[in-house]
Order: sequence, then C-alpha cells, then structure tokens
Amino acid sequence: MDGPSGSGKSSTSRGVADRLGLRYLDTGAQFRAMTLWMLRHEVDVHDPAAVAARAGDPVLESGTDPLDPTITLDGQDVAEAIRSEAVTAAVSPVATVPAVRARLLDLQRRIISDALDDGGIVVEGRDIGSVVWPEAEVKLYLTADAAARAARRTAENGSGSVEATEAELLRRDQIDSSRATAPLSVPEGAVHLDTTPYDLAEVISRVVAIVEQ
Ligand code: C5P
Repeated sequence: MDGPSGSGKSSTSRGVADRLGLRYLDTGAQFRAMTLWMLRHEVDVHDPAAVAARAGDPVLESGTDPLDPTITLDGQDVAEAIRSEAVTAAVSPVATVPAVRARLLDLQRRIISDALDDGGIVVEGRDIGSVVWPEAEVKLYLTADAAARAARRTAENGSGSVEATEAELLRRDQIDSSRATAPLSVPEGAVHLDTTPYDLAEVISRVVAIVEQ
C-alpha cells in the first residue's frame, strides 16, 4: 500500500490487516526511527554523507500486530517520539540517503519473508510495490486531495492549523517524489484509489473487496 502522507494508508492498512488476519508493517515509522536516532546523536540530517556513515548503527525492531504495531530503537519504545515535529521535519531528507534506504530495505524484506510463512502481511510506505516487494499479490496506491489529507492529519495530531499541516505535507511529497532512489510513484499494476470522498470504514471495505477478488 503506497501513497503520500495523509492519504489514509496507515488506518486503512491496519484495518485491512485486522479484517483479513494478516500482519502489518509501517515502513514510514522505520524511516522516522532512523531520523530520531540521527537527531539524538547530533548527526546533521542535511549532510547525506554524515547520515550514510551512521546508517548501520541504529538497532531497529518493528512489531507486526495490526492491533498493536510497535517500534523500538536500541531496545527503547519510540512509538510516540517518532511523531514529533522535529522528526517530521527531518525525515524526508534522511529518507533520500541511499544507505538509509538500503539498510531498511534489507530489514523490510526480512520481515515480509517471515510474515509470508505466517499468512501474509500488509505493508505501507512510498516504494513498497515498486522496490521493496514488486511481486506483491495486491498493490494499492492511495491518494486524497491535499486539503482532505491535511484535515485528517491535523485531526490525528490534535493540534496545529490545517494550513500549516498542508504546507508540511506538500513539502514532504515534493522531496519524496523527486528523490533519485525509490521516489514515491504509482507502482506498475497498482489499483489507484482516491479516498477523498470516503470515510475509513468505506475505504477498508473497498480494499478488502479488491484483495478478495
Ligand atoms: O508514512 P510517514 O508519513 O510516517 O513517512 C515518513 C517519511 O518517511 C515520508 O515522508 C518519506 O520521506 C519516508 N518514507 C519513505 N519510504 C517509505 C516510507 C516512508 O521514503 N517506504
């Protein structure tokens, strides 16, 4: 499940995984945890060589229960810390660094391989159907109007203005879509679903129907 920020990927992926008895992986959380580690270790996130030099150091673990997805960094629960404004502002530059992507790609593919022995997995991100697992059985690309995405994200955050959130989403979309390695794009063979007019339950039902076809 790929798509830009606020398209409804996370809630949809978790809901679909729960309905179908599958595991769940949020790859954005992994990029955020890498970014948090760089910030905590005072690595200049705008210096790709400095970030690349430390890309192998963070110890990351993702739990794949859709009802309780967890993420730890060096053994510590960072589920809340990775949602901070500082991390949100720095994550897209960190995610452009090829060494960061290579490190996480390896981790993501191992988690997916393990989950395939356990019934399957819904994986959400920006490059899942194109790079991480092009042989996925079902590929979805979720979008929504920028204003709708900003309104959803502001409601989730419980603070901030919709205008500022929209500007931040568009800034990240721009970096994520224009980077050289694994840019955000509609993967070949993906079903494109515009979620703007639907509520979450409707989107989940539509995706479950697509998976069950
Ligand atoms: O999904 P979320 O908004 O938490 O992702 C945070 C950032 O991580 C994205 O803006 C993008 O820069 C990066 N990301 C990525 N590739 C993925 C998932 C996330 O580059 N598969």
